[in-house]
Amino acid sequence: PHPVIKPQPGILSIAPYVGGESAVPGANRAIKLSSNENPYGPSPRAVAAYAAAADRLAIYPDGGHARLRAAIAEVEGLEPERIICGAGSDEIISMLCQAYAGPGDEVLHTEHGFGMYRISALAAGATPVEAPEKDMRTDVDALLAACTERTRLIFVANPNNPTGTLVGADEIARLARLKPARALLVLDGAYAEYVRAPGYDAGARLARMRDDVVMTRTFSKIHGLAALRIGWAYAPDHVIDALDRIRGPFNLSTPALEAGEAAIRDLEWRETCALRNEVWRDWLAKRLAAAGMPCLPSEGNFLLAHVGAGRVERMDAFFKARGVILRKVAGYKLPEHIRITVGDEEACRLVAELAARFAREDQ
Ligand code: PMP
Repeated sequence: PHPVIKPQPGILSIAPYVGGESAVPGANRAIKLSSNENPYGPSPRAVAAYAAAADRLAIYPDGGHARLRAAIAEVEGLEPERIICGAGSDEIISMLCQAYAGPGDEVLHTEHGFGMYRISALAAGATPVEAPEKDMRTDVDALLAACTERTRLIFVANPNNPTGTLVGADEIARLARLKPARALLVLDGAYAEYVRAPGYDAGARLARMRDDVVMTRTFSKIHGLAALRIGWAYAPDHVIDALDRIRGPFNLSTPALEAGEAAIRDLEWRETCALRNEVWRDWLAKRLAAAGMPCLPSEGNFLLAHVGAGRVERMDAFFKARGVILRKVAGYKLPEHIRITVGDEEACRLVAELAARFAREDQ
């Protein structure tokens, strides 16, 4: 018998990330509203740039991501040397955990915080800790109370996924001010471009002023490039330095770098997508409420609907049977809720109609 080769302690206790809905039979034809993708797709300019990169596939990509970082910096008004790119913001989250948290350290996140914080913390050998929320919103006081001398990272998504709720810039600033000095605060702005609340800042202001705050962003949502895996962070120099030491040398492909650059420069496409999202999100929230499924106020491109005890499985199956894939969020300890990505007009009208029918038939 050969020796049993075991992974690092704790790895086998990690529950893998759920969300591979593309594996659902017929998913090519299904209306997929389970992963908060952009129903309008990427900017046509990004698609053209992606295709044009086909003549350089034999050559390694630019490992320093120079042109993409320059484009992000220009559009967002940031310094390119303080930007780092990852294979999705998932990779940035994972690199942060690897670099800053190990065995004995704690990684703090909110009760219904994005699932990768926990997975990446465990993968780094650290201990994930969750702070309670108040009314399904990030509660800064609870986060502060949950901090210990072992807290190394604090992840806050704003707006949060799966709740869609937003906390104000003043609250986030208070968290930055009062958290322990040795904990790095990571503000996850995956849905930042959808936010309409006046005065909103995804974290760039704080990350510029402080050396203990990082902002992460993604091309998977508003830019419609989820398949290409492009994320980035704006961080203090010392964090960029640390992450660059552990980053895979060619972690973004040439087609991704090219498409990302074209996408971020197409501000008109971004605004069109954000506008349509706002209109149809608010329209759909009203219809769902009328069907007895009230939604939390969302600043993202998705709604968290309260479907009720014991009805989630039936509703999920009802929609799936009619070609619409929703996201159950029981894994986020929300067994009475379902998360619905705001699709295009056709998808929203279909969801509203199916929700009303489900509510009538499921008495
Ligand atoms: N953060 C949040 C809050 C998210 O919802 C997601 C996507 N589900 C991510 C990060 C990761 O996105 P990506 O890796 O595609 O950039």
